[in-house]
Amino acid sequence: MKAFLPRIEIALSQIRHNAQVLTELYGRQGISVMGVSKAVLGDPVIALAMLEGGVKFIADSRLENIQRMRTAGVTAQFILLRTALSQAESVVIHADISLNTEVETISALSCFATIHRKLHQVILMVELGDLREGILPCNLSQVIQTIRAFPAIKIIGLGCNLACYGGISPDNTKMNELSELADEMEAEFQINLKIISGGNSANHKWYESAQGIGRINNLRLGEAILLGRETTNREVIPGLYTSAFRLIAEVIESKDKPSLPYGAACQDSFGNIPSFQDRGIHRRIILALGKQDTLISGLQPEQDLEILGSSSDHMILDSHNCDLKVGNEVSFNLDYGALLGAMTSPFIKKCFVKD
Ligand SMILES: *Cc1c(COP(=O)(O)O)cnc(C)c1O
Repeated sequence: MKAFLPRIEIALSQIRHNAQVLTELYGRQGISVMGVSKAVLGDPVIALAMLEGGVKFIADSRLENIQRMRTAGVTAQFILLRTALSQAESVVIHADISLNTEVETISALSCFATIHRKLHQVILMVELGDLREGILPCNLSQVIQTIRAFPAIKIIGLGCNLACYGGISPDNTKMNELSELADEMEAEFQINLKIISGGNSANHKWYESAQGIGRINNLRLGEAILLGRETTNREVIPGLYTSAFRLIAEVIESKDKPSLPYGAACQDSFGNIPSFQDRGIHRRIILALGKQDTLISGLQPEQDLEILGSSSDHMILDSHNCDLKVGNEVSFNLDYGALLGAMTSPFIKKCFVKD
């Protein structure tokens, strides 16, 4: 039988291995790991590999993904990473814990939790400078004061998220700030904050260099588990696999052609006026893969090939010295953006491989 193209090949044993190395490494200092499944659309088989590798929770930004995993029979504590007011009822039904920053939203969660006879657990996200989600530290006390009165809400912890929007590093200063806030809030309200979630895959270097980890006892890891890299510099974390995912596409044209387009210039399919380098006549190949499938700039060919460009459904490459014919397969490594796109594309078949 002919293999499906394009396809993404997923080595589950490598994902399980990465999860295991990371849970053991961080576990040595009492840090638990939430496996983040959003980049793989909450794929239940991948979530199971993370759980087998030792992660304690599964976290996702989309309720649909959490429902997908629950329906498939994945049993874990599920954390929703991004909470919207309009989804409050579904959040209390499908998530065990949610990350929150707005009193209005938490109030709605409390109402629906009461109706559904549940106690919904929340982790409050604190703004530490990356300027995505977070309660400003100066307002945290007031927020907790208000939420404490909500009958069906339990505040179980604090968290922060860095290195996502503003490109701000989760360093010692930021982690100490979060630890101190945890101590202050516990003292002020006589509560126990059992989860202090210091961040994401960007926290690896902090962990390796920190003299003490303070109150931090949890990390939420997607990219580190899936692609084996920390995310402040995209450096490989020692001992982890970086190619658990490989994207394979089909050659649909292979010809010697000029490298400079000819005729009167106009816009390309995405509204840009492109420019080109003249490299004479060369061997060009076209793959049946395009911008509709993935982030082309996040692909790294495994062979000596050069990506020249792409449109929605075609990718054009200089084949250098590779002798590629129509029907041949070309494989790529993926970065986070390419993984996100490829896993979301309905045109790319997800194939689990044995090693
Ligand atoms: C996506 C996300 C993560 C995981 O980020 P990685 O860089 O993939 O580890 C963690 N926390 C929150 C709030 C997120 O949205």
